[in-house]
Amino acid sequence: MHRMSVRVGIGYDSHRLADGGPLRLGGVDIPFDRHLVGHSDGDAVAHAITDAILGAVGGGDIGELFSDRDPANRGRDSLEMLAVAVGRVRSSGFQVSQVDVAVVAEAPRIAAHREAIRTALARVLCVEASAISVKGKTNEGLGWIGRGEGIACFAVATLVPNDPER
Ligand code: MG
Repeated sequence: MHRMSVRVGIGYDSHRLADGGPLRLGGVDIPFDRHLVGHSDGDAVAHAITDAILGAVGGGDIGELFSDRDPANRGRDSLEMLAVAVGRVRSSGFQVSQVDVAVVAEAPRIAAHREAIRTALARVLCVEASAISVKGKTNEGLGWIGRGEGIACFAVATLVPNDPER
C-alpha cells in the first residue's frame, strides 16, 4: 500500500557581521563591505537550510555533524556541509522537494542576488531552481539586525521519499 510520507523541517541561523567583504550567502559571494563571522565561512543561509533538511529526517543538526571545535571545519565551505546533509537525507530514504528561505538583513538587498543564490543552492540540493525560494526582509531598523550587527536566516524544507529513478 502506498503511504504518503512528506517531511517538513525548520532551520534557523544567525551570524555576526564584521568589516570586509564579500558577504557569502547561499553559496554566493555578494559584493558588500562586510562579511559574516563564523568558524566556517559563516553562510547563514546554507546553515539554516542544512538544519531544516536534517530536522526533517530527525538527523540531528549542523553542529553535531560539523563541530565548531574541529579545526577541519575552520573556514569550511558551507555548501560542502550542505551536500553532506543532503547525503544523510538520501540515506534516510528521502530527497529534498522544496526549500523556502527568509533572510533578515538590514543590508544589502537580497533580491538582486536571488537568482544566483537559487542556482547555487539548487545544484547542491539536487532540485530545480524553481523549487527554491529566497526572500529578503529588513528588520525595519529594529534591534541587532536593524543596527547592522548581524544577519538572521529562517528556512523551511519539504522532503519526499526517494524516487528510485533519480
Ligand atoms: Mg551558522
